[in-house]
Amino acid sequence: MTRSPSSRTGLHGISPASAKPRRAAATPAAGARRHKAAADAAPAAGSTQRIVDAVTTAIVERRLMPGTKLVEQQLGDLFQVSRTVVRQALNQLSRDHLVVLEPARGAFVAQPSVDEARQVFEVRRMLEQQMVRQLCAVVTDEQVALLRAHLVREAAAVERIDVAGRTRLLADFHVVLARLLGNEVLAQLLADLLARCSLIALMYQSAHDAGHSAEEHVAIVDAIARRDARAAARLMDSHLGHVERNLQLHPRAVDLAAALALA
Ligand SMILES: [Zn+2]
Repeated sequence: MTRSPSSRTGLHGISPASAKPRRAAATPAAGARRHKAAADAAPAAGSTQRIVDAVTTAIVERRLMPGTKLVEQQLGDLFQVSRTVVRQALNQLSRDHLVVLEPARGAFVAQPSVDEARQVFEVRRMLEQQMVRQLCAVVTDEQVALLRAHLVREAAAVERIDVAGRTRLLADFHVVLARLLGNEVLAQLLADLLARCSLIALMYQSAHDAGHSAEEHVAIVDAIARRDARAAARLMDSHLGHVERNLQLHPRAVDLAAALALA
């Protein structure tokens, strides 16, 4: 059996070492889903989730490029699991819109279209404006302190140019807001949308820099701390608007010479 080029170049960013369910820290819903799955099925369910979490984290941290081929055999070797378990994980990732399964060709990291990108941001703006509005009505001082602690971690990651860490923390901020509302459905929905946004940012080269996003998060938390629902909603809307407007939402031109390594 010949090895495909993508299996030689490897699955950048995915390794069992990064398979810690870090996503669970930000999304209790994922944890709940995992526990339910573990209770329902064979121990294989845990292995399936481990692969799903590792691939999702690699996507959120933008270590895995859209269009990357995910070779079943290689994933099986990396995680020491059967191809059946790998296939279950790839099916789950495909339901999450992070992976596309192509008959006879295999699994690839999804490449969201311009339309999909616009729709994802539209849904985020609807959900997240209402989310911060509600949060202003119920937020406690302890929760505000928790948000401020998250902002400190964001700023530190931006400062030390920890690209993977800051990307994850910037995404987690939005999921943390949902979690503070105690709405696990919303937290899970946002975690999924945020992972899709990571792919969108990779596809369309976001020029919105991390420092700017971190500053906008501070302004949102300040409004929440004042229980100013109107300002919080407006700031969230403009934050998501900035992120979306900084995407170059047109298909990237293929440079044939560069693609063939002749440049
Ligand atoms: Zn943000």
